Amino acid sequence: MEKMIVAIDGPAGAGKSSVTRLLAERLGFQFLDTGAMYRAVTLAAINQGVDLYDESALQSIAAKIEIVFDGEEVFINGENSTAAIREPEVTRSVASVANAPSVRSYLVDLQRRIATQGDFVCEGRDQGTVAFPDSFCKIFLTASPRARAQRRVEQLKLSGKPVEFEAVLRDQEIRDQQDSTREVGRLMKAEDAIELLTDDLSLGEVVGELERIVRERIERTSSSTANQ
Ligand code: C5P
Repeated sequence: MEKMIVAIDGPAGAGKSSVTRLLAERLGFQFLDTGAMYRAVTLAAINQGVDLYDESALQSIAAKIEIVFDGEEVFINGENSTAAIREPEVTRSVASVANAPSVRSYLVDLQRRIATQGDFVCEGRDQGTVAFPDSFCKIFLTASPRARAQRRVEQLKLSGKPVEFEAVLRDQEIRDQQDSTREVGRLMKAEDAIELLTDDLSLGEVVGELERIVRERIERTSSSTANQ
C-alpha cells in the first residue's frame, strides 16, 4: 500500500513542531522535522568555517552530512546536536542555507527518500508545495504575528531565557520576510491545503482538529479507492 504523507507548512512560531509531533504520535505515523535539516547543514557550515554564501561549499556539506533523527533528538555525523541546532547563531544564519537552491534540491530529495520508509507527518515550509505536492492531506498552520511572538516569549521564559516581546516580534518579521520571498521553496499555502489559524486554540485543540481532518481524509481516500 502507498505510504501516507501529511504535509504541514506554516510560518515560524505557529506551533508546528509540538503539534506535528503529537499528531504523528496519535496517528502512529513517523515525524520529519525538515527545518532541523536546514539547521543541521547551517551548524556544520558554521563549525567548518564555511562562507554561508558559498553555495557550492554548502551543497557539498549537505551531500556529506549524516543526519539521524532519534525521537526528539537530532544527531549530526554521530554527535547529538539537538540543542546546538536551535542556538541563536544557527537561527540567525539558517536563511542563507535555506535560500541556496542546490541545497534545497538535495534536502528535498532526501526528505522524499526518508518518506518512502513509512507513513509520515512532514513539517516545514514547502512540504505541500514542493516536497510532496501529491500528498493526500496538506495543512497550512498559522497564527497572527503577535500570537506567534507571544508563544515564543513564553517558551523562552520557560527555558530560562527571558526576552523582550518587541525584539522577538522584530526577529520574527525578518524570518517571515526571508521565508516568504526566497526564490525556491518559499513559504506559501498550497492551493489544496487546509488553513488552520491557531490564535485562540490550545495545543490540545489544534492537535485534535488536525487528527479529525487527517482521519476524515484517510476514510475518504480509502472509500474512493474501494469504489474504483
Ligand atoms: O522550522 P524551523 O524554524 O526549525 O526552520 C529553520 C529554517 O529552515 C527556517 O528559517 C526556514 O526558513 C527553513 N526551512 C525551509 N524549508 C523547510 C523547513 C525549514 O526553508 N522545509
